[in-house]
Amino acid sequence: MKYEYLESVRTEIEKCVRCAACQSGCPTYEDSFSETLSARGKIHLLNAVLDGRLNFSSRLQDDLSMCLSCLNCKTACPTQVDTQKIFSFSLKQINKSGGGSVLESLVFKYVLPYPKRLSFFAKLVGIFCFCYKVAPKWLIGFLPYSPGGVKRVLPNFWSKNLRNILSETTPSLANPIKSSISKVAYFSGCMTDLAFSTTGESVVKHLLDMGVEVVFPKNQVCCGAPAYFGGDDEAFRNLVDHNISVFNELDVDAIVCSCATCASILKHYYSEVAGADFTRFTSKVVDFQQLLVTLGMNSVYKMKKAGGYNIRVTYHDPCHLKRGLGVFEQPRTLIKSLPNVEFIEMEKADRCCGGSGIFSINHYPEAIDYGRIKAESIAKTEADYVVTSCPSCQLHIADALNRFGLSTPVISGPELLDLALQRNGVLDVRK
Ligand code: SF4
Ligand code: SF4
Repeated sequence: MKYEYLESVRTEIEKCVRCAACQSGCPTYEDSFSETLSARGKIHLLNAVLDGRLNFSSRLQDDLSMCLSCLNCKTACPTQVDTQKIFSFSLKQINKSGGGSVLESLVFKYVLPYPKRLSFFAKLVGIFCFCYKVAPKWLIGFLPYSPGGVKRVLPNFWSKNLRNILSETTPSLANPIKSSISKVAYFSGCMTDLAFSTTGESVVKHLLDMGVEVVFPKNQVCCGAPAYFGGDDEAFRNLVDHNISVFNELDVDAIVCSCATCASILKHYYSEVAGADFTRFTSKVVDFQQLLVTLGMNSVYKMKKAGGYNIRVTYHDPCHLKRGLGVFEQPRTLIKSLPNVEFIEMEKADRCCGGSGIFSINHYPEAIDYGRIKAESIAKTEADYVVTSCPSCQLHIADALNRFGLSTPVISGPELLDLALQRNGVLDVRK
């Protein structure tokens, strides 16, 4: 069979009735008004490939790469076409025919599965980031990622890795909460491990405050999102198999994620390639904020006496948390429960910020355009902090705000808990 991956999603492709409902809210379509950058256009072209009327031309490959995997089209589709699966299998097809990026493929296979190599690679990127940051103004015109003479906001890859901060197992000293959850494993994700360790530390701290024992298996590896969205099936499978075997060995009640993309990949995409053990694994995957609300921590926070530190907060929904996992009320419930925190809903809070992992590396000019819409929404709220639940969004929104001339800090949900509780003098949430 010429296109076996594409053939395997033929039924999905043929479900499309070309109604165009997926165009509304699609950032790539709304920015360009190009039919081939909407789900409908892409699916139409893929149908032509299946029928032998078209080849996987470089133009089609470029159009397929212009997708944020934001799931807007999937949610909007009245006939429930699994657009994400179609795009991902198309990319797998391109990869199989040797059309993928060689560099990306090497990173997926030889770096992502090895935390030490990944850390080394991140530190090298950190050197680039440092040189970029201190580069003089006259050099900016020659640097990448600096359109308009504004440098991109980059993460600090020189910070201490979360793996080198946390212990593998931490028992809780607090009274256990009355729940079926007494021991959890934490899946941090690469970005939290390498550049957003304060989020990881906060996650563990708040889980311990709840009386829950936390296991942080240091042999966990990347969730596989870059390989999945890059169409590298083999690299993705290897990462999936490894993580499932690591976490299935642990006797835990839940696998907690603080990164929306990791959570969504673990929960929904592992099943596409994993063996029989995947349901035991995926059934335990839960978002950190979702877990806190399930266990009633919002009621605990609500009862805390407020100090004098007032903040206005707005929230950005990561695509993979809202549309991927259906988690959007819980982060708001938590924010609203915190002492002296005022919540302001931004316009289009669930519109993709444009980060989308590798997308903003490969298509930075477009990512800036999408980010500008997000920055405008945030500016209108006049919030002191922007909160979100995905390191990639955190990074891209900080960059978008910087380009917009704003310095509003962008923090994670667990970091907001620290800020609101500690600065208001709540040292022990359970007392
Ligand atoms: S909304 Fe669904 S059925 Fe309609 S054009 Fe888009 S993918 Fe096809
Ligand atoms: S996933 Fe998002 S960017 Fe990609 S086609 Fe669908 S709506 Fe557009």
